[in-house]
Amino acid sequence: MTDDFTTTVYYDDDADRSQIDDETVAVLGYGSQGHAHAQNLADSGVDVVVGLREGSSSRAAAEADGLAVATPAEAAEAADVVSMLVPDTVQPAVFEQIRDGLDAGDTLQFAHGFNIHYNQIQPPADVNVTMVAPKSPGHLVRRNYESGEGTPGLIAVYQDETGTAKEQALAYAHAIGCTRAGVIQTSFREETETDLFGEQAVLCGGVTALIKQGYETLVDAGYSPEMAYFECLNEMKLIVDLMYEGGLGEMWDSVSDTAEYGGLTQGSVVVDEHARENMEQVLEEVQDGTFARNWITENQAGRPSYTQLRHAEKNHEIEEVGARLRDLFAWAEDEDATEDDKQR
Ligand code: NAD
Ligand code: MG
Ligand code: MG
Ligand code: MG
Ligand code: MG
Repeated sequence: MTDDFTTTVYYDDDADRSQIDDETVAVLGYGSQGHAHAQNLADSGVDVVVGLREGSSSRAAAEADGLAVATPAEAAEAADVVSMLVPDTVQPAVFEQIRDGLDAGDTLQFAHGFNIHYNQIQPPADVNVTMVAPKSPGHLVRRNYESGEGTPGLIAVYQDETGTAKEQALAYAHAIGCTRAGVIQTSFREETETDLFGEQAVLCGGVTALIKQGYETLVDAGYSPEMAYFECLNEMKLIVDLMYEGGLGEMWDSVSDTAEYGGLTQGSVVVDEHARENMEQVLEEVQDGTFARNWITENQAGRPSYTQLRHAEKNHEIEEVGARLRDLFAWAEDEDATEDDKQR
C-alpha cells in the first residue's frame, strides 16, 4: 500500500496468495481477457477450468493452450471462483446457465461492472461479488505477465459473504500479474460510470468526433484529403504517446512554441463550454441509467441503429483515404503487435 495516491493502490506485497492458490477458478469465455486470465492463473499454479459452449470455436484454442475446458455450467459447478469474461451483452444469459453452480461462499467475479451496476445480473445473496479489471486489453495482460512486467488494474467488492472477498480479489490480481504494476481500489459504480463516460465522451466517441470534424473542416475548405488525414488523424498517435509518457506537460514541451501557443489559445475555442455541457449531459445519462437502457433495448431489437452507425463510420471518407495512405507508407506497421494479437 502507498499513501501517495488519493485512492488506495495495492502491490505484490499486499496480496496473500493463499486466498487463491488452493481455489479452482472457472474462466468463462476465452476472448481478450479470458485467454489472458486463464493462462496467467494456470502459470501461477492456480487450478483453472475454462467454461465455453459446446461447439465454441474458442474451445480448440483453450485446449491447445493446455487448459481444461468444460461447459460454463460444469465449470462453475467445479469452481470456487467464477470469472465472468464473456462479452458484457451475453453475460446475463450465461449467468442463467451458471447460477446453480454458485454455492454459498463462492465468488462471482467480473472485469467490468455494467451488469451488476445496472441490475442485469442479480447474484444470489450468499456469494462474494468482486471485480478484477486489468486496465489493458488481454493480449497485453498476457504478454506483460510472460515478460515479468505487470498490468495496472482495479479491484472492487460488491458483496462480501466470506469476509475475505477483497483479499481474494487481490490474490487473483496478483496471480494474473496486476499487483506487479499496482491495483487501485474502486467500486462497481465508479468503475462502470467512469468507464462508460470515458469511452463515450473522450476516448472513443470524443476523439473520433474531433478527428472527423477537423478532417472535414480542412477538406471542405479545399485542402487535400491526404494532408487533412495526416494532420488530424495520423499525428494523433505522436501526441498521445507523449501525453501517455509524461502527461500534458511532456507533450507541450515537445511541440514547437508556435504549436504550444496556438494550442493553448485555440483549444478551448474548439472544445468550449458547450462541449462541457454536452459532456455533463452524457454523464447524466450514464448515471441515471438512460444509456444502459438504450443499449440493452438496442441489443434486444437486434442492433438496428448500431448497425447503421457502424456502416456510416466505415464509409466515412477519412477511412478510405487512410487505407490508401497506410498502403503507401510503411509507418503504420505496429512493431508491438503480432498477427495473433490483432485477432484476439
Ligand atoms: P471478448 O469479446 O474478447 O471475448 C468473449 C469470449 O466469450 C469469446 O471469445 C467466446 O469465447 C466467449 N463467448 C462469446 N459468446 C458466448 C456465449 N454466448 N456463451 C459462452 N461464451 C461466449 O470479451 P472481452 O473483451 O475479453 O470482455 C470480457 C469482459 O472483460 C467484459 O466484461 C469486458 O467489459 C471486460 N474487459 C475487457 C477489456 C478489453 O480490453 N477487452 C478490458 C477490461 C475489461
Ligand atoms: Mg461452484
Ligand atoms: Mg475503460
Ligand atoms: Mg468499457
Ligand atoms: Mg503539424
